[in-house]
Amino acid sequence: NRYIYTFEEGGKEMANLLGGKGAGLAEMKKLGLNVPDGFIITTKACIAYQKSNKMPEGLNDSIKENMKVLEKKTGKGFGSDKNPLLVSVRSGAPISMPGMMDTILNVGLNDRSLKGLTESTKNRRFALDSYRRLKQMFGTVVYNLPHDEFEEIIQEKKEKYGRKNDTDLKADELEEIGKEFDEVYKKHGKTFPQDPEKQLFLSIEAVFNSWNSPRAIAYREINKISNDLGTAVNIVSMVFGNTGNNSATGVAFTRNPNTGEKELFGEYLLNAQGEDVVAGIRTPRKISELEKQLPDAYRDFVKSAEILEKNYRDMQDMEFTIENGKFFMLQTRNGKRSARATVRIAVEMAKEGLITMEEAVLRVSPESLDILFHPQVKKSGKERVLGHGLAASPGAAIGQIVFSSDRAVELSRNKVKVILVRPETTADDVRGMSVSEGFLTQKGGMTSHAAVVSRAMGKPAVVGVESMKVNVRERSLTIDGTILREGDIITVDGTNGEFLLGVTDLEESQVGEHIEVLLKWSDTYRKLGIRSNANTPEEAIIARRNGGEGIGLARTERMFLGGDRIEIMRSMIMSKNAEDRQFNLTKLLPMQISDFTEFFRTMEGFPVIIRLLDPPLHEFLPDKEEVLNRIYSLKIKMIKANELKEIDELMTGINRENEMLGVIRSLEEFNPMLGFRGCRLGISFPEIYETQVRAIIRAAINVMSEGKKIIPEIMIPLVGTERELSILRERLEKVALDEKGHYNISYKFGTMIEIPRACVVADKIAAYADFFSFGTNDLTQMTFGYSRDDAEGKFMAKYLEEKIVPNDPFRTVDAEGVGELMKMAVERGRKGNKNLEIGICGEQGGDPETIEFCHKIGLDYVSASPYRIPIARLSAARAAL
Ligand code: ADP
Ligand code: MG
Ligand code: MG
Repeated sequence: NRYIYTFEEGGKEMANLLGGKGAGLAEMKKLGLNVPDGFIITTKACIAYQKSNKMPEGLNDSIKENMKVLEKKTGKGFGSDKNPLLVSVRSGAPISMPGMMDTILNVGLNDRSLKGLTESTKNRRFALDSYRRLKQMFGTVVYNLPHDEFEEIIQEKKEKYGRKNDTDLKADELEEIGKEFDEVYKKHGKTFPQDPEKQLFLSIEAVFNSWNSPRAIAYREINKISNDLGTAVNIVSMVFGNTGNNSATGVAFTRNPNTGEKELFGEYLLNAQGEDVVAGIRTPRKISELEKQLPDAYRDFVKSAEILEKNYRDMQDMEFTIENGKFFMLQTRNGKRSARATVRIAVEMAKEGLITMEEAVLRVSPESLDILFHPQVKKSGKERVLGHGLAASPGAAIGQIVFSSDRAVELSRNKVKVILVRPETTADDVRGMSVSEGFLTQKGGMTSHAAVVSRAMGKPAVVGVESMKVNVRERSLTIDGTILREGDIITVDGTNGEFLLGVTDLEESQVGEHIEVLLKWSDTYRKLGIRSNANTPEEAIIARRNGGEGIGLARTERMFLGGDRIEIMRSMIMSKNAEDRQFNLTKLLPMQISDFTEFFRTMEGFPVIIRLLDPPLHEFLPDKEEVLNRIYSLKIKMIKANELKEIDELMTGINRENEMLGVIRSLEEFNPMLGFRGCRLGISFPEIYETQVRAIIRAAINVMSEGKKIIPEIMIPLVGTERELSILRERLEKVALDEKGHYNISYKFGTMIEIPRACVVADKIAAYADFFSFGTNDLTQMTFGYSRDDAEGKFMAKYLEEKIVPNDPFRTVDAEGVGELMKMAVERGRKGNKNLEIGICGEQGGDPETIEFCHKIGLDYVSASPYRIPIARLSAARAAL
């Protein structure tokens, strides 16, 4: 059972066993980059440790042997008073969990080796600084001593000796700090172990244990990472960024993680160690300045970064240290990035030939496009900009400010939208961040915790607003004399790095050039057509602009509402016979023709599916309560009235309302969604559909005479038997032919497939249909027997929680059940009519997983809402690759 690998023995493909960090260190060694020596204790060792709660058999000996080897390689001795070997003990899970687990630096320093380090480096200040760091990290990580107590001591000394920064502290003062740190241990009943081996083993166990710290568990839960992966432990010989101004430590990306631009992007600090950069102890410098300050090291860095990107074929997030001018790589991994950067990097890497176009398409998740199309702040000039910081993650977020993660979680339970405001965020805030709309921090740079996490979550963030003071205890923030308290509403503009008072107007974000390119590539790979659901010309225009190739569903209900139309519609419904009905419908005809004409113009050259009237008629009538109230108040007036004429008028009014009430009662249904609607209406009241078809054909002729081509596809809803369709088709075809006259226009008749029975007898139905379109909302409702309008609010949450359904079936098609019916309908439908065109127009048609399914079962197209068309184009391409 082998628990240890040296860096020379590993590689990037071994991340499961060696953890991401270890595999990366090994890979960098292989590539010939300058990496300190070291070895890796595997994740298997961690799992064994977790199971038995003690170090697995043989591991301790193995560690000791490897330390001997490391001593030889480095020419240093562990705990030696001449030239001591110091190591870092670093966590490293197979999947990166930034900042979640622990790392201890400078292990191996004690009173004895301190002398060795002082003499070998001739730098007493540096040696003492390293020692106090070890005591601090070891104390907090291994013994859980309070971090603040150490920090307070440093603060006190800085004040006492008038030192502004940690780096200004003199050797003697650091020595004093170290001594007082010993007191902190004592106060909590501990002592700092002088035995280096004991330091090492306790540190390793602490890293193993950090796998199960509450915050690590919470992080894995949120990010759906398995609990039994375990963490590896990396033992790395120390290199020092804190020997003076010739040394530095920093973090950087090979490309800008916010915009995606190709540039070395990051921050560093001179004379610092480890986490100083991320922790915001001093304000770090931009990486570009390193070129001037330490040019040789910078050049090495640029070269290393290039090698890494070529090798990993992806943007890298790197950690480095410079010791007396010499450059060392300490970590590399694929970097987290904003949605915007994801797209740009994928496209540019494909153009550079680093990856293929297919890979570029596969690298951008449809969800990240969704984020990109999130609205942006639209300024009118009247808003009040409260402050400026760094634009860490783009987009706009509006919400009430809260000052702690707990409060964020609490309020979000009641669906309150919150913005988390913190001095800076840490790993403990991840839960709160996951329920917030956006973030605002006082400290931190572009690589701070808040910045990294917000980009990964795709949430807007402004960080490092230095002129703002956050008072967590009082739940308030102060900026330029303005005080805001918990509950006040702000807008975070992560695109421009500002935050504003109150609710701000938002606008659609612009499609960037890189997205355009990516979507064009997607179009060459996808097999599915992309149409849009659109009910108005405005929506149709957006659909076209976003790349829609036609309309998959245009609902016509709207054409019976609004203005005097609703009154005509009501008279139509209350008609006593067919002539009356026809009379009223004829009044609506010109309005419908002009609606369709306008609509068709926007979709010139494309097919447009129009669904004939679907909802039950009572939806067009006033509410019953409302009518009852009106009758009641008319009756009250009647009691008070004394003139005959007035009484007469009131009587007429009452009679009219009573008639309406009668109609409402007669149309009342126990299950309206299973009731008198769709083609059932069409069968009983032929005039309604006939008028609609008349309007459609006349509009098509109008548009055609303007020289524009349009292909109307007339869709009959809610068909469950072949007779329904054959009767209606025959009738409507007659109307169409009649209207068409000598004009050379083509049209189609088809049906929505939304009743389970229709799927089963699809071959028979297809004999009368030119096209099918899956109405997966009703199909899901009727297959599950879940009322769509009640499921969401009543039991769906519980069902999801109990994993009774893996996804909300009204968002993602239930492949196992509903999907099986769809498959059947496709097969049988094509058997009945081999030219049958088949698509989907339900809500699920814009969902990436559903699109993949539709591709698999061989649909011709999907139809999504206008805003989701880019997502659909990308999803369809990914499904085909
Ligand atoms: P995390 O996973 O939280 O980033 P790391 O194990 O990467 O923790 O350690 C944090 C930082 O400590 C590193 O970025 C690096 O600056 C410093 N560090 C770790 N090991 C060494 C080492 N052997 N020599 C010098 N610095 C180190
Ligand atoms: Mg790190
Ligand atoms: Mg329906």
